[in-house]
Amino acid sequence: MFNIHQIKEEICDIGRRIYNRGFAAANDGNISFRIDENRVICTPTGISKGFMKPEDLCIVDMNGNQIAGTKKRTSEILLHVTIMKARPEVKSVVHCHPPHATAFGIAREAIPQCLMPEVDINMGDVPIAQYALPGGQGFADVIMPYIMKSDIIVQANHGTVSVGPTIERAYWLAEMLDAYCRICLIARDLGKVEYFTRDEAEELLDLKQKWGFKDPRADLENCELCANDIFRDSWKETGVGHRAFQPPTFKRNDDATTQQKTSITPKCTCGGNNNDSTKNTNTNQIDDERELIIKTITDRVIKALAG
Ligand SMILES: [Zn+2]
Repeated sequence: MFNIHQIKEEICDIGRRIYNRGFAAANDGNISFRIDENRVICTPTGISKGFMKPEDLCIVDMNGNQIAGTKKRTSEILLHVTIMKARPEVKSVVHCHPPHATAFGIAREAIPQCLMPEVDINMGDVPIAQYALPGGQGFADVIMPYIMKSDIIVQANHGTVSVGPTIERAYWLAEMLDAYCRICLIARDLGKVEYFTRDEAEELLDLKQKWGFKDPRADLENCELCANDIFRDSWKETGVGHRAFQPPTFKRNDDATTQQKTSITPKCTCGGNNNDSTKNTNTNQIDDERELIIKTITDRVIKALAG
């Protein structure tokens, strides 16, 4: 049995942290926590997350109908309760707009992997879900396939949704993802991004299994370990690809001698229908164009040097 007042205090505290870190401007973001079979405490609509008081919060049933509170519940509660119904172990849902993670969702750039151990252990593949108009059931339907496989997702042109057994854990994933995305962007600006080797990536994945963290990569054969492959089936729809970050293409249980650091056209052979080459049209087309530009520039330089 949860102490309702304590949960409300905690939601207000996490709201302050979200606001103070710049993850929710003005009235952005929403937070919820499931207190029993049929009741969820959530933030109201139209309120700054940085200045909430426990009495501002609402209680809804598992269909999103408001059953307590003087302020109107968040319009995005349907997404929260849909997630909680599908994943009963999830007690809390946090939605916010962390700028660096959200930027990846606007650029439709796959979140890089194999760069920091804590991130790979805690998150692994982070998907980017299609854009959908916020608020309705359609919005929830777009998110669901991804949130069934990952505790945090980036919503294209919107923000993040993260879940957990506690409010702190759900929030913490958003904070971790944003800090990571920021570090990735700074490293790229420095001019060099060095990924884990295949052995280092495998070592982390094995450790993750040992510690009881689930990672879909561990169950897939012939899967590229660092290319965010698990969700590649969705890339044609979302327009996500590797443009700013080119990951190494080695696979789990590859022969070490065939390791490749980079590839212009990474191929994924893991998961369902991934073998269908038409699925990567967007990414391949962009990669082909890039290759053509590089070739044209190289030809010109060689010609100029030859006098
Ligand atoms: Zn939002």
